[in-house]
Formats: sequence, structure tokens, C-alpha cells
Amino acid sequence: MPIKRLLIANRGEIAVRIIRAARELGIETVQVHSAADADSRAVQLADRAIDIGPPQAAKSYLNVDAILEAARSAGADAIHPGYGFLAENADFADAVVAAGMAFVGPSGDTIRLMGDKAAARRQAQQAGVPTVPGSDGVIEDMDAAKALAVDLGFPVMIKAAAGGGGRGIRIAHSADEFATLAPQASSEALAAFGDGGIYVEKVIERARHIEVQVLGDGTDVVHCYERECSLQRRRQKVWEEAPSVALKPEVREGLCTSAVALAKSVGYSGAGTIEYLYDDATGDYYFIEMNTRIQVEHPVTEMICGVDLVAEMIRIAGGEKLRLAQAGLRASGHAIEVRLNAEDPANNFMPFPGQIAELTLPDGPGVRFDHMLYRGYQIPPFYDSLLGKLIVWGEDREHAMARLGRALGELSVTGLPTTAPLFQALLASDDVRASAVHTRWLEPWLEENQHMIMDRGGAAA
Ligand code: ADP
Ligand code: ADP
Ligand code: MG
Repeated sequence: MPIKRLLIANRGEIAVRIIRAARELGIETVQVHSAADADSRAVQLADRAIDIGPPQAAKSYLNVDAILEAARSAGADAIHPGYGFLAENADFADAVVAAGMAFVGPSGDTIRLMGDKAAARRQAQQAGVPTVPGSDGVIEDMDAAKALAVDLGFPVMIKAAAGGGGRGIRIAHSADEFATLAPQASSEALAAFGDGGIYVEKVIERARHIEVQVLGDGTDVVHCYERECSLQRRRQKVWEEAPSVALKPEVREGLCTSAVALAKSVGYSGAGTIEYLYDDATGDYYFIEMNTRIQVEHPVTEMICGVDLVAEMIRIAGGEKLRLAQAGLRASGHAIEVRLNAEDPANNFMPFPGQIAELTLPDGPGVRFDHMLYRGYQIPPFYDSLLGKLIVWGEDREHAMARLGRALGELSVTGLPTTAPLFQALLASDDVRASAVHTRWLEPWLEENQHMIMDRGGAAA
């Protein structure tokens, strides 16, 4: 049934993004919010806002009962979970459906299967998608796991099966280190995710992070090409682009086809992303995980494909079949996104929740800024530090970088430090200009170029 009234169980820039898509579809919006977000942009924009609890996420944005009660009282017929919070919580997806509403995302069972990163690896192998060499499922026996790690060759990664957002990953460089870290990783995973399951993967050195956007309606699946997100700090993405200039057409074809095969094998419904590591030296790619939700960096795909991914996922949740055929999905030009965080680049990227004093937004041709800011807005300290995302489109990568530089020059946020100076500095880097990067390129570069970032205005405001 087409959705008439959508509840948004999230906050920040993604809540604003969802409200916009819903409004364009003629759908009413209900924004739930914590006490700390009563003044948020999403609350201002939505048709209706409902307070669901205190600032702490556990008592508001993660409070399933309060969210379902808000949905019932507002007469919502669907819930969009955004990213983070409850977006990959299978029990929440089931509870929404049990309450007679549509969940904007895949079924609880699909989330359960793909959200267990060890089970997802097995699913990928069954679908014929290459995975990183590693353990067969979660580790049951520490001695056997240590022997496997020795076989794989160090360094190896110890990953939490329930991990996400760059958390729950450890690197072991020797058998001794493995013997110490693996049990630690397991008890930390239990504390952080309520699931102590861990698994092992060989570390792919100098790999690029490349991911494929898919859309499915439970029967058909199409891909919207790839994004490259190799510039990472603490395994979190800071700069993303589409397409990846590292892929030859035949590799792109193989990668995207494998993502469609995997999504089809689970009868995928909604928007999803299949993440891979890509080895430039050999041309090999390896599945690492699937995110069963909209991703932070989805706009770069929207810019090159001319698709509104959030609108499509809402339509699919309303029971529509895919409107897009693979043959009709063409990519054109190049898009780059940078994440504007309330963090101080001159102080080890310490989160810096402050008040927006003055704000000048970039615009003009090929520029999009998805954000939640306004003059005088006080950033609540309780949530992650993402303020917005600056996205640019150009005819090619060179043009996109020129636009990024121009748009960053127009952007001015005062009152608190942001990550903007980092991107000006990155644009000046020869490696970034040549896309000669990999997932562990950024961190050592930051160590060496601290002074340059500060010269560009990174000192605390
Ligand atoms: P994306 O995967 O969309 O590129 P991130 O990896 O930064 O972006 O994750 C998106 C958001 O979801 C972040 O706020 C991140 O902290 C959060 N997140 C993802 N997975 C989990 C998880 N398992 N537990 C807690 N937070 C998560
Ligand atoms: P999360 O669920 O936290 O997003 P991922 O499994 O997607 O975790 O990995 C996050 C990042 O860690 C990747 O983008 C990549 O930079 C790095 N990484 C993950 N697995 C490997 C690996 N086997 N070898 C090298 N780097 C890896
Ligand atoms: Mg990931």
C-alpha cells in the first residue's frame, strides 16, 4: 500500500534528507526527537514532531517502545530508520511490521542474516562473491583460530560479527598478539554489541574501499554503480566519490554484477550497499560486508545516476516494484562528498559541539550541501559529530575537484571548529589529486601534514 504518513526514527542531516524525499512524494512526515533536539532543523521542517524522551540515545532514538507509540498515536503507516541507531536492528524492523506498519528497509530476517558479518561472508561465498581469506564463520575455538591466523599470515584482522561504524576491529601482528587480542575483542564486542562473536580476516594491504549501491524490490535487483571511500580515519569514511577512477570497465562490470547476485540471493528489498576491498596490484576484489540501509555517502551516487535513492526506498516500502531497469541506469560525470564534522582537526579531531555563530552556505552549479545547520544552532553533545555533507558534481574528477575547492571557499561556519580545513589541505595533495590512495593512506598523511591543516584555519575557533 502506498505510504501516506511516514515517521522518521532518526535525527540530523539524514532526517532532513528523508523529510525532503517524503514531501516530494506527497507523504506527510512525523519527526520524533529527543529533548536535546527540540530545536532541530528536522523538527522545524516536518509536518509534526513528537518528543520521545531524554537526550541519551538509549532513552530516545533507540527506545523502540517510545518510537512505536509515537507512530501509533500519529497514525503513521511507515517508519524510516535512516542510518545508525535502529537502522540495522532486525528486531526493530520486525516490531514495526508486527505493529502493522511498513519498515523502510529490508525484512528483519534479511537484516539479521546480513548484519551478522560472519554469516554475510558465508552468504557471499554461496553467491559466488569472493571474500577476504579468513575464518569460516565465527570463532568457536581459540587454538584453532590462532592456527588459522598463522596460516593466513600476519597481520590479521579480528572483527566483531555484530560490529559497524568502524568499531569492533583489531589488528594482530603475531600469534602472541592474536592470543591476547582475540579474547579481548570478544568481550568488548559482547559489551558493545551484545554479541561476543568474532571472526578473522587477512589484512589486505594498500586496498581501496569500493562499495556498490543496490536497489531491490524483493524480486528484482539493480545496481547504481560504485563509490570509492578509501580516505578513512579510524576506519571511518571522511571523503567519498563516485565512480572510482581505479576500476577498469570489465572490473566494474564484475564487481557490480557480483553485488546484484548477492542481493538477489537474499531476495533483497530496499536500498543496500555491498562493501568490498579492491587490490590495485592484482585487480582482485573481496566482499567485506553489506549495509542493509541508506548510507551516509549515498548522494554521490544520486549525483552521477540522477536517482533519488531515498525516494526509491520509500516507494519500495510502499509496495511498488522497481521503476528502474538496469539498462536505463547510466552514470555520468564524477561526484565527491566530504563529511563536515564538528571536530577540531588541529586537536586530533576532538568532537567540538558548539554553537553556530555565522553561516555562509556554498551553492552554484554542481553543488549540494545536505546538512542540519542554521545560524545560532547549538550542536547537542550527545550524538555523532556529523553536521552535513558537501557534495559536488563535475564532468570529470578534475572538474569535481575544482568545484569542491570553489565550494569549500564559499563555505564559512564560525563559532566552532569543523573538518572543512582538512578538505582544502587534501585537495592540495598530489596523491589525492592522482587518486593514489588506499584505506591506510590518510592517517600517516595527517600526522605529517598537521601544520598545513592548521595554516588553513584548523586552529580552534
Ligand atoms: P556509512 O556506512 O553509511 O558510510 P558509517 O560507517 O559512518 O557510514 O555509519 C553510519 C552511521 O551508523 C554512523 O553514525 C555510525 O556510527 C553508525 N553505525 C553503523 N553501524 C553501527 C553499529 N553496528 N553500531 C552503532 N553504530 C553504528
Ligand atoms: P564496519 O562494519 O565497521 O564498517 P568493515 O568490515 O566495513 O567494518 O571495515 C571497515 C574498514 O576497515 C574498511 O573500509 C577498511 O578500511 C578496513 N578493513 C576492513 N577489513 C579489512 C581487511 N580485511 N583488510 C584491510 N582493511 C580492512
Ligand atoms: Mg563497513
